[in-house]
Amino acid sequence: MGGADKGETTVVDRTEVVIVGSGFGALAVAKKLGKAGTPFVLISETTEHLFQPLLYQVATGVISPGEIAPSVRAILAKYPNADVRLGRVVDVNPDDNTVVYEAAGQRHTLGYEHLVAATGARQAYFGRDEFADLTFALKTVNDAERLRRQIIRCFEEAHITADPELRKNLLSFVVVGAGPTGVELAGQIKELAQRYFAESIGNIKGEDVTVTLVEGADKVLPPFGGKLSEYSKVSLEKAGVDVVVGTMVTDIDEHGATLKTASTGETRRLTAETIIWSAGIQANDFADVLAERTGCETVRSGRLLVDNDFTVGRADNIYAIGDMVTLDNLPAQSPFAMQGGRHVAKMILGKVPAGTAFQYRDKGSMAIINRFRAITRVGKIELTGFIAWVLWLAVHLVYLVGFRNRYIAVMSWCGSFLGHRRPHFYYAQELEPAAPAEAEKPADAPKADASKADASKTDATKHPSKRAKRKAAAAARVPVPVS
Ligand SMILES: Cc1cc2nc3c(=O)[nH]c(=O)nc-3n(C[C@H](O)[C@H](O)[C@H](O)COP(=O)(O)OP(=O)(O)OC[C@H]3O[C@@H](n4cnc5c(N)ncnc54)[C@H](O)[C@@H]3O)c2cc1C
Repeated sequence: MGGADKGETTVVDRTEVVIVGSGFGALAVAKKLGKAGTPFVLISETTEHLFQPLLYQVATGVISPGEIAPSVRAILAKYPNADVRLGRVVDVNPDDNTVVYEAAGQRHTLGYEHLVAATGARQAYFGRDEFADLTFALKTVNDAERLRRQIIRCFEEAHITADPELRKNLLSFVVVGAGPTGVELAGQIKELAQRYFAESIGNIKGEDVTVTLVEGADKVLPPFGGKLSEYSKVSLEKAGVDVVVGTMVTDIDEHGATLKTASTGETRRLTAETIIWSAGIQANDFADVLAERTGCETVRSGRLLVDNDFTVGRADNIYAIGDMVTLDNLPAQSPFAMQGGRHVAKMILGKVPAGTAFQYRDKGSMAIINRFRAITRVGKIELTGFIAWVLWLAVHLVYLVGFRNRYIAVMSWCGSFLGHRRPHFYYAQELEPAAPAEAEKPADAPKADASKADASKTDATKHPSKRAKRKAAAAARVPVPVS
C-alpha cells in the first residue's frame, strides 16, 4: 500500500462490513445492516449526514446548517452493532481485505469481509482547476456558508460604496451550469434581491441586481427537456434572471467571466464579483484508489464503471455506489445512491443472491426554480408551478432526517416563503479591522480551501488572484447573528 508515511500501524481490528462515507448511499447501507444486527464500521471524513438538496437554503439564509446536517453518529446510535469512526479512507488492499484510513494524524488499518464505498463526488472544472479558486461552489456545508457570507458581503458593500462600477460588480452574480443547483441558486439570489435586501437595504432595488445563468446545452435543466425545461427558463426570465443557453464559459478571472456562444462563435464578457460554479461533478479521490487497486475502469469524470451488482473491478466483495459510480446512465441523484445502498445491503445480508443485477425504480424527478415554482416528472405525468413546488417541499421534508429538523425547516419555510424572513442570515463582520494588506492574506483561508487547492496546484493557487484573496477573506470573517 502506498504512501504510508504517517505512523502506520499494523492490522488492529476486523469487522464484517466497512462502509466509507456518510451520505445518502452510506446511510442506506448502514440502516439496513443496523436493523439486521450485522457488525459494521462506518468511516467518514465528516461527522454529519449532509442533505445536499437543501444546501442552497443554507447559502441563502433560509435554514441553518445543523438542520440539514445531523450527526451520523447520533442517527446510528440506536444500533449497537454500528461503529462510527471519523477518518479519511486513503487506501485499500483487496488481497488481504483491508482498508487504511487516517484519523487524528494517525494511519489505521481495518479488515473487512465486505467493503462498501460511497464517497460521492465534488465539482468538476473540466481541466480548468484554477476556476476552483475564482468561483464559489455548493457541495459542502463550508461551501454554503462561504457563499452566504459572500452574498451578504456584496449587498453590504454595495449599500455603502460611492463607486458606481464597483456597486454594479458587487450586485452582479454569474451562475455557471443550469442543472438543479444552478437553477435553484439563480432563482434564489434574484428572489433575495427582490424580497429581502430590497426591503431591508433602502438604496438597493431588485432590478439593480443582475443574475446571469449560463448553460452550455441549449436548454436549462437538460435532463428534463421539452415543456419542463422551457417552463423553467420562462419562469427564471420572468423573475428577472438572464438565462444564456448554448454558451460555454471559456475563461474566468478576478473581474468576471468570458462566454462563447457555440452556434455563432461570438464571445462576450460579464463582469461580476461573484461567480458560482455548478457545471458538473467528478468522483472524489477514493474512486481513483479503488480503480487502481481493483482494475476497475472509470469514465472521464473519474466515476467508476461498476458491474450491474455494484461490484468494483476484479473484487467480488467490494462495492461502490452513489455519485462515485456510473451505471446505465442513471442520474447521479440521491435515489440512485439510496436504492444502490439498499441493494448492496440485501446482497451482503443474503436476502438476494450475490451478483443480482440492480433494478432502478424511477420514482420521478423534480427541481425547484424559485418561490412557488418547481417542475416534477413522475412517469408520463408532468407538473409545473405551485403544485410541483409543494410536492418538492413535501418530498424533501420526508427525506430530511429527524423530526426536529423537519419541524424547524417547515417553520423556516413559512417565514421565508410566506413572509420575508431569512432567519439564518448572519451579518459578517471582521473581528478586528484589518489593514487592507492583512485582510487579503491568503493564509487566512480555511482548511476546506486548502484541500481544494491541493487537488489542483496551479499557478492561480500559488499566486492567488484578488478574487481568491477576497474569497479567503470572506471565509475568514466571523458571523454575528442578528435574528
Ligand atoms: C447542491 C446540491 C443539490 C442537490 N439536489 C438534489 C435533489 O434535489 N435531488 C436529488 O435526488 N439529488 C440532489 N443532489 C444530489 C445528491 O445530493 C447526491 O446524488 C447524493 O448526495 C449522492 O450520495 P452519495 O452517498 O453518493 O455521496 P454524498 O452524499 O456526497 O456522500 C459522500 C460522503 O463520503 C465522504 N467521503 C468522501 N471521501 C471520503 C474518504 N476518502 N474517506 C471517508 N469519507 C469520505 C464524505 O464526507 C461524504 O460523507 C444535489 C446535490 C447537490 C450538491
